[in-house]
Amino acid sequence: MSTDCLFCAIVAGRVPSTKVLETDRAYAFRDINPWAPTHVLVVPKDHYEDLAALAAADPTYLGEVFGAAAQVAEQENLTGGHRIIANTGDDSGRTVFHLHVHVLGGKNLGALAG
Ligand code: AMP
Ligand code: ZN
Repeated sequence: MSTDCLFCAIVAGRVPSTKVLETDRAYAFRDINPWAPTHVLVVPKDHYEDLAALAAADPTYLGEVFGAAAQVAEQENLTGGHRIIANTGDDSGRTVFHLHVHVLGGKNLGALAG
């Protein structure tokens, strides 16, 4: 756990969030600034900076995070489909340095823009 990490603080309950789903090692909550009718963030409860860090440290754990993301899509009834994004590195414009998987849906999301 990282003391100055926003998503560690959310997992610990020190910063409020709207919980969507929780498993042993993953926590899902609503994005505060949604890009789509459904916009949920799924994070590992332990601090890993990004997808590559968790893939290197514990691929099974990474699988649990993606499994939780799939569960979120089902629970949120995203029957028309959904998009999963894990921004990594400077070019992605990411703002929070604790691995998080965006689960987006509830409308036609269109093509990924270049
Ligand atoms: P990224 O650009 O991939 O780093 O995404 C970070 C996401 O975290 C953004 O979509 C923000 O809207 C979201 N976010 C920032 N602070 C909070 C918060 N306190 N609760 C929920 N979502 C947040
Ligand atoms: Zn963290």
